[in-house]
Amino acid sequence: MLAEDFPRHYYNILPDLPEQLPFPLNPKTREAVKAEELEVLFPKECIKQEFSNESFIKIPAELREQYFHLGRPRPLYRALRLEKKLSLPKGIEIYYKREDLSPVGSHKPNTALAQAFYAKKQGFENVSTETGAGQWGSAVSLAAMFNELNAEVYMVRNSFEQKPYRKILMNLFGAEVFPSPSENTIIGKQMLKEKKNFNGSLGTAISEAIEKAATNEKTFYSIGSVLNHVLLHQTIIGLETKKQLESIDKNADVLIGCVGGGSNFAGLIFPFIKDKLKGKETEIIAVEPKAVPTLTKGKYKYDFGDTGKMTPLIKMHSLGSDFIPEPIHAGGLRYHGDSPIVSLLKNLDLIKAKAYSQEQTFEAAKIFVNSEGIIPAPETAHAIKAVIDSALKAKQNKEEKTIVFNFSGHGLLDLPAYTKI
Ligand SMILES: *Cc1c(COP(=O)(O)O)cnc(C)c1O
Repeated sequence: MLAEDFPRHYYNILPDLPEQLPFPLNPKTREAVKAEELEVLFPKECIKQEFSNESFIKIPAELREQYFHLGRPRPLYRALRLEKKLSLPKGIEIYYKREDLSPVGSHKPNTALAQAFYAKKQGFENVSTETGAGQWGSAVSLAAMFNELNAEVYMVRNSFEQKPYRKILMNLFGAEVFPSPSENTIIGKQMLKEKKNFNGSLGTAISEAIEKAATNEKTFYSIGSVLNHVLLHQTIIGLETKKQLESIDKNADVLIGCVGGGSNFAGLIFPFIKDKLKGKETEIIAVEPKAVPTLTKGKYKYDFGDTGKMTPLIKMHSLGSDFIPEPIHAGGLRYHGDSPIVSLLKNLDLIKAKAYSQEQTFEAAKIFVNSEGIIPAPETAHAIKAVIDSALKAKQNKEEKTIVFNFSGHGLLDLPAYTKI
């Protein structure tokens, strides 16, 4: 695929949804949140996109140039060796989108870059964010560097101490990384003083990053998943994939992605949902860990987006904002909720959800490593397990199927996980 084939627009699913997406609510008044209320945290362009009714939103030329620099458009591989390993008959084919090829090894820079770009244009000088194991923090650090912003990353202390490599990566990109809870914020200081939550949690790190952005005019808060504009930026994955499949005259019968907050999954599937809504038959599967079964077991309800209950209430499949998941290796999938759009699609039965145990996903990842030779991130391993199941089912039923999945990231910085399984 050539650089000029890279999409000129993001695809906005909002106007195509069969039902109005429930609005985020102010938890005090229970009224719909006004766009202005979000301006202390987010760039104006992102807020506009969050509520936009335009189907296609133009990607500015300078931002496109940044995407080229990250290696977009990205290749779509056929998993020939995996097909062979599974002894699949002719007619069952597996394809995967190589989002692991970004400099930080995941799809996350697709949105980090856009947010940083719009923020810089608006005059922001700094960005604050949180990170668990460091995937999101490294994407933000890279995006900040490209757009000449200072990055401040609040990293859950436990990971800060136990997983040093992504911290080194962030520092190399010029970001400041603080173990959370930290001395930099009121909420962090309070926790340290009360000797509460010393090892930190994602909820606390979010609260610290939000406090920094809310109290400094020149700082914006960068968010890694869940919100509409984040998913919008990720649609470049699906737009590219669609073109790539068309160019080899293939049609996706099954689309699969793993789901934490829902951004890499949405990025792949949204451009295909448009055709499904017009009557085309496509099976779409969201895959999550059994330890965090938001789509398979969570309730579709209004809930807070964070543990600190600082965000607006959003309607989503949720296990409750105080749900603390087991410490599984797929840290990027340990979120108590899901994107409101993905939740609505699930509620309307336009997508299916499956949950697998950690053991099942690592078994699948090992089959992938031993055939394709690429190490999946523990998150991506969830998608792979569903892909293998889906291919074997088609084989058993003697069906022809083209299965396409999002290879959301590599596991080269998660290697210790592979030795513990
Ligand atoms: C963060 C992450 C995920 C999960 O986040 P989504 O917003 O659901 O995409 C999945 N895979 C990888 C490699 C990640 O880094």
